[in-house]
Amino acid sequence: MKRREFLKNAALGTAAAGTATAIKAPSVFAKRSYRWRMVTAWPPHFPVLGEGADLLAKWVDQMSGGRLKIHVYGGGELVPPLGIFDAVRHGSAEMGHGAAYYWAGKSPATQFFAAVPFGMNAQQMNAWIYYGNGQKLWDEVYAPFGLQSMPAGNTGVQMGGWFNKEINSAADYKGLKMRIPGLGGKVIAKAGATAILAPGGEIYTDLERGVIDATEWVGPYHDYLMGFYKVAKFYYYPGWHEPGTVLEMFVNKKKFAALPKDLQEIVKTAAARSNVWMLSKFEAVNNSYLKLLISKYHVKLRKFPDSLLKQLKIYSKEVLLDITSKDKMSKKVYDDYSKFQKNAMQWAKVSEIALYNAENL
Ligand code: CA
Repeated sequence: MKRREFLKNAALGTAAAGTATAIKAPSVFAKRSYRWRMVTAWPPHFPVLGEGADLLAKWVDQMSGGRLKIHVYGGGELVPPLGIFDAVRHGSAEMGHGAAYYWAGKSPATQFFAAVPFGMNAQQMNAWIYYGNGQKLWDEVYAPFGLQSMPAGNTGVQMGGWFNKEINSAADYKGLKMRIPGLGGKVIAKAGATAILAPGGEIYTDLERGVIDATEWVGPYHDYLMGFYKVAKFYYYPGWHEPGTVLEMFVNKKKFAALPKDLQEIVKTAAARSNVWMLSKFEAVNNSYLKLLISKYHVKLRKFPDSLLKQLKIYSKEVLLDITSKDKMSKKVYDDYSKFQKNAMQWAKVSEIALYNAENL
């Protein structure tokens, strides 16, 4: 009897405890607030790029009614700018804001989620990531690091870069030390240049001191803020190496999974909003700053000759072949990327390209 009673009481107790948990849990979770750290690859409160990270944190705070507060750290404040991937991976920060090609050393396939030379523009990248297989593949590439990433900004078509001399052919790249990240760096290396990956905060000084001879950065507005016109006079276009660079927000997967579902959606929504915000900002202001650079600071605007672009395109194909033949994941990602790009380009010929041509008649 005693044993039976005990079992009955125990069962009731468990049931009662279970009920109590079931009733209490939602209100406990609903009230629980979280404090996260976001480490970024940008100097503190860096215009546009860092601003995008700051805004993302602000929007999450507003949408969540203060339940998720994100403290944004500039590069170097908590960890060095290019140390953010490892910091989030190992959990010393919950999220990061950077660009996927900075992590080529971790996995070459990361680069396809930032920029591919002669690759897709912002609109096409969004289409691939949000509606094609882009996000799925991105998740797959970051999974071994315990990370998950998503678009949180886009620069649009970048400029080709700042040079101290005219660049007329591939031969002019010989011996040139240029700051240029990702696959674009490998392309100019084929032409005999040395590609250097320096974080944003170091480029101006490197260029001024001659540590590098040339640099690319983003586009007229941001390049103006960086002051490159003071140390280099030739400003080349187009940014063949970065046709629509995706900025990313990545999270520690375990920490993200521990958030209630509504906060997860809020984070994703804020990232998507900053993706649109950043691209819009650049698009809105770039041309005024280009005009300012030319008229006030006497910057010499130059277009890369078609013959050079053709050569760089050949080198790009070689670089992509090198990477995809050595790294399985890169092949998997690039196969899908290039298939998507081909399709998008066919559509562009009867949409954007035809429209731009018509508008310029
Ligand atoms: Ca760039």
